[in-house]
Amino acid sequence: MPDGVRAVAMGSYIGVWKRVATRAGVTLDEYLAHLDAGESWCAPCGAFHPLAAFGLDPSHPRGRRSICREAHNREQRAKYKAKVTV
Ligand SMILES: [Zn+2]
Repeated sequence: MPDGVRAVAMGSYIGVWKRVATRAGVTLDEYLAHLDAGESWCAPCGAFHPLAAFGLDPSHPRGRRSICREAHNREQRAKYKAKVTV
């Protein structure tokens, strides 16, 4: 396994990743393997997606949204629907 992700994990992200891994139902090792493979956890979908599936967000530490474009669109549509049906 490339040690790039693990080297970064020695920093402050390790606690965050542990929590995300627990929520995703995988071990920290499994979670890091997904990160190494260029994938990220998407909570609304309950699945790992390739990073390319996540929209760009400069305000986010990783430069990507924490939910994928599809989940983001679903949320936006749900919000819009809620507005127009009231
Ligand atoms: Zn998703």
